[in-house]
Amino acid sequence: MAAGGSADVRSLGLPVVDHHAHLRPDAASMEAVRRFESLGGTHIFLATQNYAETVPLSLEDYRAQFETTLAIVRSIEQQTTVRAFPVLAPYPIDLLGAADQIGLAQAVEVQKAAIELAGRYIREHAAVAIGEVGRAHFPVPPEREGALTEVLEHAMQVGREVGCPLVLHTEDLDGAGYEGLAKMAARLSLEPSRLVKHYARAFVPAPLRHSIVPSFLARKDLAKESLVDPGPWFWETDYLADPSRPGAVLSLETVPRRVAGLLRLEAPAALSERLSIPFREAPRKVYGIELQPRVGP
Ligand SMILES: [Zn+2]
Repeated sequence: MAAGGSADVRSLGLPVVDHHAHLRPDAASMEAVRRFESLGGTHIFLATQNYAETVPLSLEDYRAQFETTLAIVRSIEQQTTVRAFPVLAPYPIDLLGAADQIGLAQAVEVQKAAIELAGRYIREHAAVAIGEVGRAHFPVPPEREGALTEVLEHAMQVGREVGCPLVLHTEDLDGAGYEGLAKMAARLSLEPSRLVKHYARAFVPAPLRHSIVPSFLARKDLAKESLVDPGPWFWETDYLADPSRPGAVLSLETVPRRVAGLLRLEAPAALSERLSIPFREAPRKVYGIELQPRVGP
C-alpha cells in the first residue's frame, strides 16, 4: 500500500487525468509518462512549449513547435496506453523575448498568426484547445502589457470562431481577477465557461470564479480543498521536463499518487463520485471529450 499501487487507483473505474503538463521529445519525458501510466494515470492534456534554444520569431518557428508537440503525442500513444490531448498556442511570455529581437509590433503579429494556426489544428481535430494564452505573471511595462492583452483578445476571438476552450496563463487570480477575465471574454462575445485558468494555486470558491474553470495545481492541500467544489474543475501538475531544474515543479506522478493517497482515507464509492468531476465531467463539459478508464492490466 505504501507505494500507492495502481491497482487501487484503477478500482475506482475512472480515468485519471493530468490537465496540464509539458513534455519534451526525449527519453526522459517518455520515462515520466511510463511512470504516470504505471501508477494508474490515463490521460494528459499536453501543452506545447518552445523546444528550441531561442524564442520563436516566425510563424514557421511556431509551426515547427506545434508539430513537435503533435509528434510527442503520437509517441506517447504508440508506446503507452496513455492518451494525450495537444493544447497549442504561442506562450505569452515568449512575446517579450521575441519583441527584443524583432520589435514589439512584429512579435504581436507573429503570435496572432500562430494563434490562428493553432485554431486551424483544432478545426482539423489535431488539437483540443488554444493555450497557454494570457499575460505575464510578473509586472511588465505598459506598452508590453498592452501588447499581451491585444494578443489575448485575439486568442479569445479565434477561440470563439473555432468554438474551443482557451487555457489561460495569468497572474494568480482572486475573485476580482476572475471577474476581469470573464468581462473581457463577454466583451468579445465569448462564454467565460470556455476559459480555463491553468495553474490555479489558490482555492477561489465557484461563485467568485464567474464561470471560469480552474485547473488546480495538484498540491496536497489544494487537491483536498478542491474536492468539495461542485465543478467543473481540473487537477494539473504543470510538469515541465526541464533537466536544468529538477524538482522545480510537481512530478508527473502527482495526480495518480493523489488519487492513491485519498483512497487510503476515503471509501471508494464516495471518492469515485467526487473525482468524476475532474476526470469525467470537466473533460466532457469543457472539451466535449468522453474519457474512458483504462481497461485491462
Ligand atoms: Zn504550462
